[in-house]
Amino acid sequence: MLITVKAAPNPSTTYGETVCVAGLNLDLNSPGWIRLYPINFRELGSESKFKKYNIVTVEATPNARDPRAESWRPRADRIRVESHLSTWDKRMPFIDDYVEDSMCDILAGVRERASARSLAAIRPSEILALDIEPHPGWSSEEQRKIDLYTQQEDLLYQGPRTALEAPRFKAWYRYRCGSRRCNTHRQGVFDWELVSLQRTVWDRDDAGVRQAIEEKFLTLMCAPDRDTIFYVGNQQAHPQSFIVLGVVYPRRA
Ligand SMILES: [Zn+2]
Repeated sequence: MLITVKAAPNPSTTYGETVCVAGLNLDLNSPGWIRLYPINFRELGSESKFKKYNIVTVEATPNARDPRAESWRPRADRIRVESHLSTWDKRMPFIDDYVEDSMCDILAGVRERASARSLAAIRPSEILALDIEPHPGWSSEEQRKIDLYTQQEDLLYQGPRTALEAPRFKAWYRYRCGSRRCNTHRQGVFDWELVSLQRTVWDRDDAGVRQAIEEKFLTLMCAPDRDTIFYVGNQQAHPQSFIVLGVVYPRRA
C-alpha cells in the first residue's frame, strides 16, 4: 500500500499512543482505501522509520471490531518499507483517480449506512478559512486512558511511560465542496504534521504558534497556485463526523 495519511496520535488504554495510518491499497485485486489501526507509535520507533508516501508491504487482517470496510488490523512488526515517493510528481499518478469533489455525497452515504465509505480525497471548490483555537486539553475519558496506560507495566521498554501531551492548538478547515447543494463543511485537522509542527515551535508564544500553523496549513498548503486536496476520514464512534487527516498540495500545472 501507499501510505498517504498519518493521523495525530490519540490516547488509548491498551495501546498507549495509537496512530491511524491510511492509504491506498496497491494490490490490483482489491484496490482502494485502507486504514491500519491500531498502530502504536512507539512500536514503530522514530518517525523516520515510517513515512508518509512510503510504499509498504503490510500483513493485516480485517478489523472485526470495526464495521468500516476499509479498516484492517496490521501486524506492526511485519510492515516492510519498499520505497518512497519523494515528490508530488511521483505521488499524484497514484492519487489522481481517487480525488472526488463532493464531501456532501460521502456524508450522505454514511447517513444511510454506518459501513459506507469512510475515507476519501476531496478537492474543495473553495477554502473559506482555517480556524485555530486553543486545545481544551484531553477530555476526562482521554485522560483516564492516558493514566491507565502510564500506570501499566511496560514489558518492552525500560523506564516509566510518559503521558501523551495534548498539543496547544487545534485547527479546523472551513470549505465548500463541489456539490451544488453544499452548505459548507467545518472539519478538524488531525494530521500528524499539525502536532509535529507545534513541537518544533514549542518555545514560541501563543501568537507565534498560531502564526506557524497558519503559514503552513493555510498560506502554503492552500495557496492559489496549489491544487489543494484534503484526505478525510471519519471516526468509528462518530461515523457522520469527518476530519481532515492530511493535505495534498502539489503546484498547479
Ligand atoms: Zn459539501
